[in-house]
Amino acid sequence: MTPARIWVAPFMLADTEVYLSASVGIGGGFLVGGVLLEGATGYAGEIGHLQVDADGPACTCGGSGCWELKVGENRLLTLAGRLPGGGPEAVAEVIASARDGEARAKAAVEEVAEWAGVGLRAIINIFNPEVIVLGGSLAQLWESAADRMERALVRTALLAPRDDVVVRPAKLGQDSSLVGAAELAFDGVLEDPQAVNELVAADGR
Ligand SMILES: [Zn+2]
Repeated sequence: MTPARIWVAPFMLADTEVYLSASVGIGGGFLVGGVLLEGATGYAGEIGHLQVDADGPACTCGGSGCWELKVGENRLLTLAGRLPGGGPEAVAEVIASARDGEARAKAAVEEVAEWAGVGLRAIINIFNPEVIVLGGSLAQLWESAADRMERALVRTALLAPRDDVVVRPAKLGQDSSLVGAAELAFDGVLEDPQAVNELVAADGR
């Protein structure tokens, strides 16, 4: 099945690339050797439920210490003493406050960046990607606390794969997932433009 390649092509820079986006949860897209990893039933890439902390809190998935519980935006907000659910603007406010020296915000950014790095190193060790593109609050974190994330991920990422990977925020910023979804919806049109006319005609009958 090839349509997935059409979807990823505008965003992808390399044959083996990982896209990770965090908001409340974390989603991932894995392009391996130019092919989007879908898994046997389409669930591959549920990276938010990778266990990163054996002593971490229980998750709705039935596991505990899942990556998204340690790195999702609500974790950052509550650690910083803010209410959860504020979205990208609230995340940006915490990051700006941390930069301005607010101790609690700074500690929250440091802790979440550390756990972000822990997850990244697992991904690097498993996939040996050329590029990791970060979206959502992970991109915001990388832009403000790349050093901390980097320190955590080099601690145990195997040296060769770490040296090979470029980590960078998504160029489309907060819109990257939306644009990707639109591209996905557009996929069928690119595959078979005539099908649109036939669907419209069938609908009008
Ligand atoms: Zn989970």
